Amino acid sequence: MQDLTVIPASNTSTLPDAPMTLCHWIGGAWVDSADGATSERRSPAHGVPVSVAAKGGRAEAEAAIAAARAAFDAGGWSRSSGKDRATLLLKVAELIDRDRAAIAQQEVLESGKPITQALAEIEGAADLWRYAAALARTMHGDSHNSLGPDMLGLVLKEPIGVVSLICPWNFPFLIVSQKLPFALAAGCTAVVKPSELTSGTTVMLGGLLEEAGLPAGVCNIVLGYGDPVGEVLSTDARVDMVSFTGSTGVGKRISAAASATLKKVSLELGGKNPQVIFPDADLDQAADAIAFGVYFNAGECCNSGSRIIVHEDVAEALTEKVVALSRRVPFGDPLDPRTQVGAIISPEHLAKIDGYVRGAVAEGARVALGGGALEVGGLGAQFYQPTVVTDVRPEMPIATEEVFGPVLSVLTFRTLDQAIALANGAAYGLSAGVWSRDVSTCLDFARRVQAGTVWTNTWMDGFAELPFGGFKQSGQGRELGRYGIEEFLEVKTVQMRIGQTRGAWVA
Ligand code: NAD
Repeated sequence: MQDLTVIPASNTSTLPDAPMTLCHWIGGAWVDSADGATSERRSPAHGVPVSVAAKGGRAEAEAAIAAARAAFDAGGWSRSSGKDRATLLLKVAELIDRDRAAIAQQEVLESGKPITQALAEIEGAADLWRYAAALARTMHGDSHNSLGPDMLGLVLKEPIGVVSLICPWNFPFLIVSQKLPFALAAGCTAVVKPSELTSGTTVMLGGLLEEAGLPAGVCNIVLGYGDPVGEVLSTDARVDMVSFTGSTGVGKRISAAASATLKKVSLELGGKNPQVIFPDADLDQAADAIAFGVYFNAGECCNSGSRIIVHEDVAEALTEKVVALSRRVPFGDPLDPRTQVGAIISPEHLAKIDGYVRGAVAEGARVALGGGALEVGGLGAQFYQPTVVTDVRPEMPIATEEVFGPVLSVLTFRTLDQAIALANGAAYGLSAGVWSRDVSTCLDFARRVQAGTVWTNTWMDGFAELPFGGFKQSGQGRELGRYGIEEFLEVKTVQMRIGQTRGAWVA
């Protein structure tokens, strides 16, 4: 008897009568694909069609790049003042706030995430547009006034040019908002490709950009798959930079594809994020954060706290607490405001999650809770149970690879050195956490762990002001904070001689 908390279908009256129709946005025009191709998206929770999107090909990708290139080179946006860019970004934030209920609803229907979480993400995204507006007005270069009496050095920050922004399905509106406002604040022009599974809210964002008065061609949206749209966006010589968020495997392909033209590549990739729990930790607080870390967004989260490394002395007690809390987390209908964990993105992905659990069991691990698909009354079976797997050994795939589901692996340690070695043992290095009442233990861990973000006595707090990105195979480059705009800027050095003081070289 699993004794889980399940919210059955309860709010299906708000399902749309007809799927949303989605077009490309190229050079200021909303267009279908030249060949008329489309793809349909069904709600992972409800099984009904929720969007029908134009399916782009090489022609649409190239047209969008041409529009972005022309807009950049014309200079209307790329040479505009920070004040003008900020004014527009602030207007977009206002429009996002105005439409947040509709955007959140579409996000739920395409991604399967719970409505309360989607609303919070849309509000968080509006905040990112506001923060980027602040950066647009405050970014600046540098000057060197100590190069001698006859020289002045200027370091100018300029927009890098045309940027391709390729996004995943797990946080569609939030992640495009971690990229696009920062690129626009820098003065870049953009071609955005949302995931083929969750294009709706990015298209809605395009409508808001148009309403806010963004000049035609400054932002373009092409819908479709990695092959060919993503590949064209990564290889075309007219693109100066690719900013990608997605899997490490695709990140490597993009990096290789972009190398032919040596365009800049920024990569936000996967993670296998450890939380290390010392015996002096507040175990109740830690257990709650562990449940949040592994079940948030159904575990389909780059920051998923998918493995805990817990001291042997408290491993049993902590695991019991996590299992007890896991039973209380409401899984089910994402349109019900009580639900905290919704559906899995696709049947294929659900099978992949299950494969990791079965593989671990075959290798000797033990399932303390869950371990299979979850039945949700009235909603089919594209849900997965909250799952806790113990007796996990460090070399098992469930301990080293991204499961991307609501599945927690429990490993144990005796010494700090062992804990650090286990934490750093994965190829990833996105985020990590440490739980201890001793600040020295926390600091020692924070300084030795290979991760772009470290949380001490908390998990997955985030701020627009703080940079985010990965070590090792979790990526390169940073988003958010001041780094969020710096990624989209080129540095130009200007060396100015004052007066006719240059000595002749030719005797
Ligand atoms: P994915 O790599 O399968 O796809 C991401 C995007 O890349 C999609 O738009 C897809 O169409 C496109 N794409 C696919 N093949 C391509 C190619 N050859 N060239 C160019 N584009 C291509 O990732 P996903 O399944 O959508 O998202 C889940 C992954 O994203 C997980 O690994 C997760 O950890 C990662 N992620 C990372 C962060 C972060 O900030 N580090 C945030 C969210 C998600």
